[in-house]
Amino acid sequence: MIDFEIEPSVVKRVKMFHMVADGVMRPISREYDEKEHVEPEQYFQTMWAANAMADSSLDLAKKKESKDGDGEKAPARSPMRNLYTVITTEELCWGDAGLFLATPNAGLGGAAVMAAGTPEQKERFLSRFRGGAPKWGAMAITEPGFGSDSSQVTTTATREGDDYVLNGTKIFCTGGDRAAKSEGFIVVWATVDKSAGRPGIKPFVVEHGTPGMTVVRTENKLGIRASDTAAIVFDNCRIPKDHLLGSPEVRKEGGFKDVMATFDATRPIVAAMAIGVGRAALDFVREFLKRENIPVRYGISPRRLTALERDFMEMEVQLKAARLLTWRAAWMMDVGKHNNLEASMAKAKAGLAVTLITQKAVELLGPLGYSRQFLLEKWMRDAKINDIFEGTQQINMLIVARRILGYSSKELN
Ligand SMILES: Cc1cc2nc3c(=O)[nH]c(=O)nc-3n(C[C@H](O)[C@H](O)[C@H](O)COP(=O)(O)OP(=O)(O)OC[C@H]3O[C@@H](n4cnc5c(N)ncnc54)[C@H](O)[C@@H]3O)c2cc1C
Repeated sequence: MIDFEIEPSVVKRVKMFHMVADGVMRPISREYDEKEHVEPEQYFQTMWAANAMADSSLDLAKKKESKDGDGEKAPARSPMRNLYTVITTEELCWGDAGLFLATPNAGLGGAAVMAAGTPEQKERFLSRFRGGAPKWGAMAITEPGFGSDSSQVTTTATREGDDYVLNGTKIFCTGGDRAAKSEGFIVVWATVDKSAGRPGIKPFVVEHGTPGMTVVRTENKLGIRASDTAAIVFDNCRIPKDHLLGSPEVRKEGGFKDVMATFDATRPIVAAMAIGVGRAALDFVREFLKRENIPVRYGISPRRLTALERDFMEMEVQLKAARLLTWRAAWMMDVGKHNNLEASMAKAKAGLAVTLITQKAVELLGPLGYSRQFLLEKWMRDAKINDIFEGTQQINMLIVARRILGYSSKELN
């Protein structure tokens, strides 16, 4: 049975995140949209400290819960880590999706370590995010020659003694510049054996400052402009062999499946980002209608609805449907169910929904929606990326079709 019951400690956490979104992100939203490539240093410090505080309060609440219970052990209820992540992600992206992506944390690199790493590797690579100075993690799959079809990786990882040597170019790497400049890392997908095809593709952790790794460019973008998007060249970049995540063995089940496992974990998060942006636009329209004394009449016959009421309700429906799919996809991971189909459903739906909602919101408000006086036009620009990265809408629809119809990627592409 699906259970979205949220623990009281997490409800408190969500409220805290909303305060951060409203009080910390919104006030600097426009500034760092306009100043692309300028570092919001104060924001980094605040968020790094807030994350540490939230983690420790969650730990304390858990300890208290187990003490107040019948005894020595932690509560039996399984921790809904992925569900809580999508809920808090929505909250922060209601604040600002660009700043959310710029927030110092393990990011997509961390998701890859979690999906493909051994317990020892998880501890070794992720413990740095618990203290010290702000740090970033990033993940580099996309190359100049491909995006959607990640089985086309051409970056090579050649084994030399106790090392691997990476050669190739990665583009559009979110947080890549900050990961390289801080004490962070980038998870780079490279092939250990081109002749093996997909199973030869493996994830490697490349530490900041590793000789041979160079950020050559950061992109100028339409939206999420506070987030850095890097092009990175690997030129004889030597890393220890135990930086390969998971098993080095080239076998049918390994390698590429880890890429997919990473996406199963990250697609619900991107869907939640989309929902946060969509909710921001919807709330803005709702407030506007209230101020202008324009009612939205629920529960009356559809034939008596005004065009505006119909549009507004449709926006709400789209957002709620996307949210439910997203929560389900995250919940499935928490309870150990395979969520490949549901993660793609959520991502495709949420990316499309946020694009439609923000465009409709701008349309309903006319010049006010288009003006830079308000953030609505920015949310419309921030929305579209959710329909592109972590698998475009079309690619996710393709995955959904394959799963439902029982086709392989070779049979339906
Ligand atoms: C701001 C930003 C941040 C990014 N961050 C990262 C990151 O952190 N790490 C990373 O590795 N990558 C990242 N990316 C890359 C992103 O994941 C790719 O851009 C995306 O996967 C699409 O790949 P592509 O650009 O090559 O487009 P293409 O694959 O060339 O697709 C172009 C169009 O064709 C459609 N299409 C392609 N194949 C099919 C098909 N078989 N059937 C139907 N339609 C199809 C697509 O849906 C799309 O509409 C980022 C991109 C951007 C813009």
